[in-house]
Amino acid sequence: MTCVLAIDIGGTKLAAALVDEAGSMLRSATRPTPRAEVMVALAALIEEVTGGGPAPEAVGIGCAGPLDLAAGTVSPVNMPSWRGFPLRDEVRKLTGLPTMLAGDAQCMALGEHWLGAGRGSSALLGIVVSTGIGGGLVIDGVPLLGPNGNGGHVGHMSIDPYGERCECGGRGCVERYSSGPNLARWALANGWTPGAHGPADTRDGSADARDGSADARALAADARVPAADARALARDAAAGDPVAVAAFERGARALAGMIASTAAAVELTKVVIGGGVSAAGPVLFDPLARALDDVAGLAFVRAVEVEPTTLGVRAGLAGAAKLAWDHSRSAV
Ligand SMILES: [Zn+2]
Repeated sequence: MTCVLAIDIGGTKLAAALVDEAGSMLRSATRPTPRAEVMVALAALIEEVTGGGPAPEAVGIGCAGPLDLAAGTVSPVNMPSWRGFPLRDEVRKLTGLPTMLAGDAQCMALGEHWLGAGRGSSALLGIVVSTGIGGGLVIDGVPLLGPNGNGGHVGHMSIDPYGERCECGGRGCVERYSSGPNLARWALANGWTPGAHGPADTRDGSADARDGSADARALAADARVPAADARALARDAAAGDPVAVAAFERGARALAGMIASTAAAVELTKVVIGGGVSAAGPVLFDPLARALDDVAGLAFVRAVEVEPTTLGVRAGLAGAAKLAWDHSRSAV
């Protein structure tokens, strides 16, 4: 049995898996991201997944950004102990294997293209709508990473040059309108009372709900807005709360502007949306479809299809595995 080692590194969770050439996960494990000594925790996780199992041929890593692909270094916003950290070399030294690195949202897009909702699409944009907004492009089956690994950074595309100042320093970025904390922020500022439409803790046991809860933990890591707010906002929107509904409509309209612009730039055929906020379902996707119908003009832009993730939190690991497999095959 041949396999590769896939690693997904985020601010709240480290995940690793052995993945075969068909995309099946043979073994996998996760653990919380520690505040410090992340590499020690990652080494233990790798040992847990690989120890006693089939030997992987290569390693693929998806890591929260920013990153510098030329240098193989990462500086994840939510991981202050890693600044310019030489992740690719460290993992290569640890495993003795060829090691490929990309951004976490780029890996999500690649995973969805390989095994999920983006399968077969010739020009795919994957979007992660969560605490922030990340993205990745897969064109003709190849991830468009950019010279330094920052390609697909759609969360910081401006959809309003006269709009609000973004934390990145830019103005009118889509993240400022559509991320979980920003949806909740706008709703609170416009009179929303969280939980007015039911208990704060009704959860079902579906796969989507579990995926959502993983991202809710990511939301919890963001001190700007309490964890429950984006989820509570989705619940209240589903219950018809007018301010919650308006918040999602506003966020969806910003996403539609970004999607239409990206579609015009690279002739997207498909968009796959994941991340905790995408678990909101129709309260996000219905106004998004209406907004795209209004915003998009040219026929090829109007033709872009938008779908929710089918892999959920596993998309990043799937994409990291694909990175490793593509490298393995090209090296033969
Ligand atoms: Zn920005």
